[in-house]
Amino acid sequence: MKQFKRIGVLTSGGDAPGMNAAIRAVTREAIYRGVEVMGIYRGYSGLIEGDIRPFGVRDVSNILNRGGTMLYSDRCPEFCTEEGMQKAVNTCREFEIDGIVAIGGDGTFRGANDLTAHGISCVGLPGTIDNDITSTDFTIGFDTAMNTAINLIDKLRDTCESHARCSVVEVMGRGAGDIALQTAIASGATAVAIPEIPFDADRAIDKIRTSHSLGKRTFIVIVSEGMGKEYSATLAKRIQEETGIETKFARFAHVVRGGDPTLRDRLLATLMGQRAVEELFLGNSNLVVCERAGSICTTEINYALTLDRMYKGKLAEGELSPYSQEQIADMHAIGERKRKLFEKLYSVVDRIGL
Ligand code: ADP
Repeated sequence: MKQFKRIGVLTSGGDAPGMNAAIRAVTREAIYRGVEVMGIYRGYSGLIEGDIRPFGVRDVSNILNRGGTMLYSDRCPEFCTEEGMQKAVNTCREFEIDGIVAIGGDGTFRGANDLTAHGISCVGLPGTIDNDITSTDFTIGFDTAMNTAINLIDKLRDTCESHARCSVVEVMGRGAGDIALQTAIASGATAVAIPEIPFDADRAIDKIRTSHSLGKRTFIVIVSEGMGKEYSATLAKRIQEETGIETKFARFAHVVRGGDPTLRDRLLATLMGQRAVEELFLGNSNLVVCERAGSICTTEINYALTLDRMYKGKLAEGELSPYSQEQIADMHAIGERKRKLFEKLYSVVDRIGL
């Protein structure tokens, strides 16, 4: 067991619903264990500048059900420099913070990795709507973002049905099609375009044309942000020109980042927050808390980042050399499982979204 005097909690990078639930869980679990907690505001910027306040159990009241992050978030290029890192380490010394739970995406984990190397024990929690952390089946905020998206698409469907229209909807996800794919199934989309699987626009347009000739009035097409900036607007234009169906384009953008977290995200954030503190107390650091096959587990940050790059086909030369054959096989298996899940879900849209 490691003895801590104080631990800090911060949120960094893109915000996600459920981050507040994680802040609350980390704070209360640490206080339960007799340790003081400091809220670090504006991510790594607040760590560099000392924008830090002590948190008692009541300071995290009434946030479990709120979107955004009460600690605010930021992107902090200075933290990537040795000088910025030194300032952050000095702040930790000044405030007697010897452990940090960092909630964010892969950039945030890279920062946590560097901070651990400088002697501050860090554990990361995956807080991003994009679900683009391959080591975990679910990230905090993903479920809420999809629920927000389907609620909005349901509204579009009403008006599409009245006017016999098609809606092409672009949803967030950075380079990952997770939000688009699951949202497409749950909103009854006719087609979905994601970066992970080649999209056959001609085939999708044929499908729309055929269903239209058989009397279908409403068409929903979901496009992942990762398809590129103009992709969805161009696709909408093509569908209208080639089918004669009036087609509107909608970009949901940041609206799906906000809102009250769903039960699933509150639960995930709370269990992950608690686990992060547990790990710190066990003397572990440089970990990401994950959910895999329904269980909360942990993965080394470096392993998680390499696994991500393997899944995205972006491995650097020699990047796998620190890992055992077994670890590499596990990485392949996790990536393969995700690819298979994508193929399966994609085929569901194809067959059921008629
Ligand atoms: P996310 O965590 O959502 O992926 P970013 O990629 O913007 O968001 O990362 C959040 C912050 O993490 C950055 O603004 C920066 O302060 C820190 N960070 C990102 N990459 C690194 C890195 N390679 N080394 C150290 N810190 C990093």
